[in-house]
Amino acid sequence: MLVIEGASRRFPGGTVALERVDLRVERGDFLVLLGPSGCGKSTLLRLIAGLDAPDAGRLDWEGGRPGPGEVGFVFQDATLLPWASAEANVALPFRLRGAAGDGRARAALAEVGLAGFEGARPRALSGGMRMRVSIARALAPRPRLLLMDEPFAALDEATRHGLQAQLRALVAEHGVTCVFVTHSLYEAAFLATRVAVMTARPGRIARELALPAEAPADRLGPDYSARLRQVSEAVHAIA
Ligand code: ADP
Repeated sequence: MLVIEGASRRFPGGTVALERVDLRVERGDFLVLLGPSGCGKSTLLRLIAGLDAPDAGRLDWEGGRPGPGEVGFVFQDATLLPWASAEANVALPFRLRGAAGDGRARAALAEVGLAGFEGARPRALSGGMRMRVSIARALAPRPRLLLMDEPFAALDEATRHGLQAQLRALVAEHGVTCVFVTHSLYEAAFLATRVAVMTARPGRIARELALPAEAPADRLGPDYSARLRQVSEAVHAIA
């Protein structure tokens, strides 16, 4: 789906955020970018989304750039309009393009378990519910690629576990390819079909590993601990 070759990004002022990054995203991947804070993960996501361009190297999205609506973005903050209902927030990408989108917004809210909360303002929702609205907004236009930048980092652990399980199910159901940024080894081990471990600044892909496509049965069982061991060994091998 996407080939990145030798991509570097240096900001004015001299910070080299990314240095010669090589990465492929295959259709159907749940690719987790794992690395310490400041290693260039968000910069890499912005390059993938076409919001920024590399100074050297190239990105090739099936021969060109992503088309409108082909990429969805979810951030650590749910970034909802505080005065608009959950439904109006999810319908926003449609309205910005001159379409109503109400039916798609309601369906997307139902998919994330928020049927009945269409009229609620963000203030009336918990942090986990606001994040589910944000995921519904990203998925409603049916993107082919979903980019997620530490979306669960600010949530409590139980909520985080619930959202991770829900996200895995949604991604499988939509057949959407996902690139997910985190610095949590546990999150990577639960979600990923592939993990790319990044070095501290300047960010490079130091190691990649593939994990079984099936979700681990539970978080205390042997398949989850085997995944966690693999991720942990990959991270410590570069430390
Ligand atoms: P991460 O997401 O891994 O925490 P970022 O991609 O946000 O890392 O940032 C990588 C490095 O680039 C950091 O040192 C950050 O301060 C710097 N950086 C990010 N964006 C800019 C910018 N627009 N201008 C200057 N420096 C930036």
